[in-house]
Amino acid sequence: MFEVEPYNDDVTLIKTATAMEDGNPIMWAIAYHIGNILIDAGCPNALDDLEKYAAKADVKAVYVTHPHEDHYGGCSVFAPRSTIYACEPDINILKNPPTLPEFFQFVWGQPTPLVDVEKLPSEFSVGNFEFEVIPLPGHWQHMVGFYEPNQKWLFSADAVPLPTRKFIAMPEENIPLMVNTMQKLVEMDIEILFDAHKGPVTSPRQHIQARIDYILGLQERALELHDEGLSIPKIQEALGLEGPWYIGLTEYRFRIDHFIRSLLFDKAEK
Ligand SMILES: [Zn+2]
Repeated sequence: MFEVEPYNDDVTLIKTATAMEDGNPIMWAIAYHIGNILIDAGCPNALDDLEKYAAKADVKAVYVTHPHEDHYGGCSVFAPRSTIYACEPDINILKNPPTLPEFFQFVWGQPTPLVDVEKLPSEFSVGNFEFEVIPLPGHWQHMVGFYEPNQKWLFSADAVPLPTRKFIAMPEENIPLMVNTMQKLVEMDIEILFDAHKGPVTSPRQHIQARIDYILGLQERALELHDEGLSIPKIQEALGLEGPWYIGLTEYRFRIDHFIRSLLFDKAEK
């Protein structure tokens, strides 16, 4: 699925997804087109539409927030005409994408390897906009967002979980670090949070705080149960956390026990 949706005079949402049987998207992955750049590039399952878009659009550069397939998977149709930028430690992943479990090949698609990827600068400008590249670790260790201080815009990638109640984690996620990042975002001067799945959020503080509060509440209870000597499966049971029907299909990429383990043992600071 593919939709182009202007948000204001300067920002256009490029929405990509795979359709469910009822025609609705499983989940949108949103790239943002501002001036002649893109922030992320959508998912590989929308490559045909992205290719048509790339042929007409003026895209000089794609700035990738982190190496998950729904964010960089569309880059291959923009390169080599557009320069692809990513965080230095992640460049190799974009050049050699891991083979995804079948479930994620269905949901997002398998990315095509990129030949040239440049190191992200610490800031860049697009027309009158000045973007600062800011680290947003937690969901992914090297994830970045792009902040425009005059507009008070933050392109936040996956820094803020989509569900209000997050209790599933990927193996690479550090949940205390994710909370720490969200606490920093709450303190920042942000008017619009451009989330990569939800789209623009115009009351970001409230949106972020609800997610912080839920996770910290779970953490407090998980730590108490852990102190009482309960195992992780028992803690999960006591907290009443149950996964959606498809969790088994993710081949352990989405897990509740990763989430609990991270809450108990990961630290926000090394
Ligand atoms: Zn991600």
